[in-house]
Amino acid sequence: MQALRGTQDILPEDAYKWNYMESAIRRLCSCYGYGEIRTPMFEATELFQRGIGDTTDVVTKEMYTFTDRGGRSITLRPENTASAVRAYLEHKLYGDQQVHKLFYIGSMFRYDRPQAGRYREFHQFGVEVLGADSPAADAEVIALAYTLFRELGLKDLVLHVNSIGCGKCRPVYRQKLIEYFHEREDKLCDLCRERLEKNPLRVLDCKEEGCRAASVDAPKITDYLCEECQAKFEALQKYLTALGIPFELDPRLVRGLDYYTNTAFEIQYTPLGAQSAICGGGRYDGLVEEIGGPHTPSVGFAVGLERLLLALEMQGLIPAPVRPRHVYIAALGEDAVAEGIRIQQQLRADGVRADMDLQGRSLKGQMKQAGKSGADYAVIIGENELAAGEAAVKSMADGTQENIPFENVPKYIADKESGVK
Ligand SMILES: [Zn+2]
Ligand SMILES: [Zn+2]
Repeated sequence: MQALRGTQDILPEDAYKWNYMESAIRRLCSCYGYGEIRTPMFEATELFQRGIGDTTDVVTKEMYTFTDRGGRSITLRPENTASAVRAYLEHKLYGDQQVHKLFYIGSMFRYDRPQAGRYREFHQFGVEVLGADSPAADAEVIALAYTLFRELGLKDLVLHVNSIGCGKCRPVYRQKLIEYFHEREDKLCDLCRERLEKNPLRVLDCKEEGCRAASVDAPKITDYLCEECQAKFEALQKYLTALGIPFELDPRLVRGLDYYTNTAFEIQYTPLGAQSAICGGGRYDGLVEEIGGPHTPSVGFAVGLERLLLALEMQGLIPAPVRPRHVYIAALGEDAVAEGIRIQQQLRADGVRADMDLQGRSLKGQMKQAGKSGADYAVIIGENELAAGEAAVKSMADGTQENIPFENVPKYIADKESGVK
């Protein structure tokens, strides 16, 4: 049996890297006042159809959807925003009129073509700020993501920001865009020709060469923003400048769905090349209503953790795991093993890694294991030691050895380590 295509096992020699990333995330989120939310891995399919949009690629082609034994249509979450909003509504978090700042870390599922750094089960970290319409909230989530990457040691970060307007100003722009592309329809790819009327903004971020060339002189959304959207966009830029976060204005940065409003942003890590986007986000003032809740202006982002890990590994930015003191207890015979287990338990309670043989090896075999395991000390309890009530404690570094009464072994090791004679 093998793991399914697009999935992977994370073995102990790599798991610490994930823990390293995740603890950096948790530390930072706590400083920014974000609370962790853990939602179910699967939800009613309808949630994602409404929350992501039933014409998007994710919903039409990439979801893991199945009928459960009760005849319900269930989907493994392809992203976490819809679930977070569902939970926000279900638990009536909006009831207190406060801003709710949430973050999540977890597995997402998309039936996509697997490639380097891209899996069918993949991991995302993301935040959602619900109930805040100030551009200061947009600046804060951008600062959180940017600071995380900087703290992890990534340089070469490029932040792209754009405003995609609101329900008032975007329709005018949309119409201009449709007219513009109609004149160049022969240059567009099939997909873009097809979605031109329904979703002209998406043509702007199409990767096909013809579409890219055709959009060079396309009207810019930022020339069509209403007064309010313009003011918000300028405020965001002012706040980013105050934060010392450099940014580039990118009128091609769009998101296709109607419930996205104002800010759209992306953080790229250029050394990753074609897959350089490590964080994407923006404002989605219309989403909560789309899912059946009250009007709740909101902003958030998601970070692909596989890609972030790739970037960190590329630069050697993941420190080796902190290694606790390590003791190997070699004991032969049930009585000696019982003494050994007692010592082991105390050492572990003191935060020392303490191993014993679990395979019935000879004392000599156990000592060989002690050497192989990289232990700092071996605690030996053979027949003679058992009779004397003292273990032989051997420093594996210099080979020196002392006999220590069983009950004093943990303290002896602790004193040695802290330099007490
Ligand atoms: Zn507007
Ligand atoms: Zn295209």
